[in-house]
Amino acid sequence: VQTCLNTHMSLPHTPSIFEKIIKREISADIVYEDADFIVIADIKPIQPGHVLVIPKTPFPDFVSADAVTIAEGSKLCQKIARGLLKLPKVKGINVITNNGAAAGQSVFHLHWHVIPRHEGDNFPMWHGSAESASLQAETCAYLKKILIDE
Ligand code: 5GP
Repeated sequence: VQTCLNTHMSLPHTPSIFEKIIKREISADIVYEDADFIVIADIKPIQPGHVLVIPKTPFPDFVSADAVTIAEGSKLCQKIARGLLKLPKVKGINVITNNGAAAGQSVFHLHWHVIPRHEGDNFPMWHGSAESASLQAETCAYLKKILIDE
């Protein structure tokens, strides 16, 4: 039973697909690896060069990770983004981490998507609606409070 980093501390840890890739139990195109991170080609890329930056510690998601992992993962994403932007077709980059199933997370081991974007590639992003604007003030008031208090 490995160290359990999910919220159910008494449950045995079920290794994610990314842990199996880290341990070479499942193959992947490994783009980079060091002591703390692995970067792999996404198996279903939005564009060529769509990679996943994965900490070796199996934090289930962004909110459960420690500050050093978030900082180092972010730096690695930036390095990859800078490199991708040197390619002629790459005109923009999305750096995304999905946190929770409701946000589209399907692998519950923290990872950032670094996605090169081409001009007019039409990958659909979310678009806000005017109706939600009225609820913004209420939720942002909550955020203003917790960001000062905590
Ligand atoms: P999420 O939906 O959790 O934000 O992203 C999970 C990502 O992992 C998806 O983009 C999916 O294509 C990728 N993925 C899932 N299984 C595998 C796999 O076995 N190998 C690789 N290379 N990528 C995977």
